[in-house]
Amino acid sequence: MRKKIKYAVIILAMTGIVILCQHAGRGLKNYIAADMTAASSISGSERMVVLDPGHGGIDAGKTGINGAEEKEINLKIALLMKKILEEEGITVVMTRESDDRLGDSQTEDLKERVKIMNESGPVLVVSIHQNSFQGSDVKGPQVFYYTDSAEGKAAAEILQAELNQIDSMYTREMKPNSSYYILKHAEVPVVIVECGFLSNAEEAAKLVSGEYQERVASAAAGGVVQYIREISE
Ligand SMILES: [Zn+2]
Repeated sequence: MRKKIKYAVIILAMTGIVILCQHAGRGLKNYIAADMTAASSISGSERMVVLDPGHGGIDAGKTGINGAEEKEINLKIALLMKKILEEEGITVVMTRESDDRLGDSQTEDLKERVKIMNESGPVLVVSIHQNSFQGSDVKGPQVFYYTDSAEGKAAAEILQAELNQIDSMYTREMKPNSSYYILKHAEVPVVIVECGFLSNAEEAAKLVSGEYQERVASAAAGGVVQYIREISE
């Protein structure tokens, strides 16, 4: 009888060990899988960003003090950024590459843009715009991010710092926002880059020059590259 109990205890103990080993094995497998995902999360198709030049077609966006149309500056800067990012091996999806609006109304246009962003699933979306204000002395680039997005905030911080380096007389601080349609509805990290104020005569003049557009594009693209590098570490 005592022998039988002894066997039962041994069998129970062995069963316990087998179950424990299975659990440990599964845990190890999950751990390895998670680690592999982390290591590869920034490679291949995930090394991708969406660039969104605001407005287009009959929606010109803001009009500058010099008559410049926002939609045109947005597209030029975005296309310059695309070129720089592709040279860095980053895949770029554009919401528009020509002077077109993406829907029949502004709401439809924004919906379509958000659809492209969400379906592409990039590491970051950079929406390019130009600012305007009643006071003509207000100037400088400014980056917006969605209030509740840690990734958006991290990217905004990097891009704002890069843009502030263009000219020490033209610096601003990044700002959270929870009401802009794109920030609210995109399911991926988004930053809105307001490159400068078209209501400021000096800045409006700069923003239409190819040379300055190149500088803005290079600063913003440099920020994107830095952001991707930081999150892949
Ligand atoms: Zn705009």
